[in-house]
Amino acid sequence: MAKISIDIKEGKIADEKDLIIGIDLGTTNSLVAFMKDGEPIAVKGKNGKGTLVPSVIHFAKNGKVIVGDQAKEKLISDPQNTIYSVKRLMGKSYNDVENHQQYFGYKIIDEDTESLVKIRVKDRFYTPIELSSFILKELKQRIENELNRAINKAVITVPAYFNDAQRQATRDAGKLAGLDVLRIVNEPTAASLAYGLGLSKGDNQTIAVYDLGGGTFDISILRIQDGIFEVLSTNGDTFLGGDDIDRAIIDHWIGSCNIDRDSLHANDNLNQEFRLTAEAAKKSFSKNDHFSKILNGYHLELSKSTFEKLVEPIADKTIECCRKAVKDAELDISEIDKVIMVGGSTRTGLIKEKVSQFFKLEVNDDLDPDEVVALGAAIQADVLAGNQKNVLLLDVTPLSLGIETVGGLMDTIVPRNSKIPSKVGRQYTTSIDGQKNLRISVFQGERDLVEHNRKLGEFILKGIPPMPAGLPKIEIHFILNADGILKVKAQELRSKVEQEIEIRSQYGLSEEEMAKMLIESIQNAEEDMNIRGLLEARNEANNILLSAEKFLKQNDKILTLEEKNITLSLAEKLKTAVAGDDKDLINKTMDELNEYTSPLAHRAMDVNIAKAMKGKKVGE
Ligand code: ADP
Ligand code: MG
Repeated sequence: MAKISIDIKEGKIADEKDLIIGIDLGTTNSLVAFMKDGEPIAVKGKNGKGTLVPSVIHFAKNGKVIVGDQAKEKLISDPQNTIYSVKRLMGKSYNDVENHQQYFGYKIIDEDTESLVKIRVKDRFYTPIELSSFILKELKQRIENELNRAINKAVITVPAYFNDAQRQATRDAGKLAGLDVLRIVNEPTAASLAYGLGLSKGDNQTIAVYDLGGGTFDISILRIQDGIFEVLSTNGDTFLGGDDIDRAIIDHWIGSCNIDRDSLHANDNLNQEFRLTAEAAKKSFSKNDHFSKILNGYHLELSKSTFEKLVEPIADKTIECCRKAVKDAELDISEIDKVIMVGGSTRTGLIKEKVSQFFKLEVNDDLDPDEVVALGAAIQADVLAGNQKNVLLLDVTPLSLGIETVGGLMDTIVPRNSKIPSKVGRQYTTSIDGQKNLRISVFQGERDLVEHNRKLGEFILKGIPPMPAGLPKIEIHFILNADGILKVKAQELRSKVEQEIEIRSQYGLSEEEMAKMLIESIQNAEEDMNIRGLLEARNEANNILLSAEKFLKQNDKILTLEEKNITLSLAEKLKTAVAGDDKDLINKTMDELNEYTSPLAHRAMDVNIAKAMKGKKVGE
């Protein structure tokens, strides 16, 4: 397999010694790591402080944006202007988070429940992507200071359960921070890499990655086979973590010292002191058996055995998640070969014991649980950079692989520079009612239109049971083995009909030709983007025309003659625009049609509902 990478911005073959960094963008803490003399190391702060950067952003009065430890200090004194847990909001709409609004101390905007959330700070709105980019910028700066050179390429980790929108949001945050995100890697995969798992051929095992952080718990079961990481199952609790242990300790002190809960909660500073003291107590039990401190006249005591009683219910909850994850992976506990501990909260001895007991295995905890994900990301970055010559993962696909979708667009499934072997799946559906066959055309290249890319082959998935358009779930898998042979598999999930072909993706392409295709794609990027915009506008317009037609047919009696005529003439106008190639005109005409018909649609809906209710008595 070829190893060429191209600097997209410069349009030239990238420097071999380009350093790609690994970033763990966490809910509570984030950190950055890189490879030095063949070993991953996490970067410390300026004054030699730790490697963790609290994922907290503070907007100071002077307009400055502060990230990390200093921002964390503002959580209590200036909560409206201090943002934490942004990761929970990535790729989410207000609908997704409304039940948790009270969890956030800052303002989440709810003007439009369907669209992505925004956060209000002072008189500006920020998307979670922008906010995350502040954290990434801080990390970028940290490593640039350390190494005294510019850095612009990164691998960023995300939880295994992150969906496409959340991954894309993370990627965009990287872009905003001035980082070319070469790969989004699953956190459990990174943790496994840090332990050296999956880095050599024939390394076949099943791994449980137990990650208990500040506010979230994730358990992932992975299968590693010939360097391919497959997530068999994930489970967890998005509101369970070290913070809950801190709260349990405070509750314990409230009881043991007879503290008035309301007056404690009313006193921000004291409240914060208690939180910090509880966290300090918790951490002390990694080394000591007893904790005591006098705070504001209260004698706060905690023995290790009492502490463990407080931790136990939290630990048990995580074990229940582990049980479910193993079951969902359709495995028996004895089939798990290794357990890896990730996240600061796994330092608590009782947690380790419980996990070890459950899996009947000694847990892997040699690496710093705070750093392990970032270290793994740095290893993945090094692999992508082509530095791990003896490693199977070294191989990458030199050109993107994808399929043709509506309008002749290239839908990339395996991006350029993806490691091989690899296996990627994506779901599609039909666009016509009752569609029985689906043609799957496989292409290689970087251009937005398949006609500019190279066709590798095609096949037809036959025998899809007739269903309305959009209902069939067709999963297409690209499986790229270590020898560069691509297998494309398509399956309709409801009926299980499937079809596959094998393609030798490299066959016939010289390195020169590949380089040429890449350079062309860069040179044509702008033009391609315009064409893509046009095609997308056309697709959308066609869909709207179809629904307008349907709407007119279904509501013939409700609409006045004038309304019908105006709708028809706007639809005609749109059809004319679609036939041309002015993207802006299509969009504008589409908006006109939409704007005109939307009140009509509301009225029709009201009439239809009223009709449906007519004659029905309450209580019937
Ligand atoms: P995240 O992945 O959510 O960003 P981390 O993995 O950084 O979170 O974990 C942060 C949590 O780990 C905090 O709740 C912190 O109190 C806890 N923690 C850190 N060190 C210890 C320790 N020695 N003992 C127990 N908990 C710890
Ligand atoms: Mg984490």
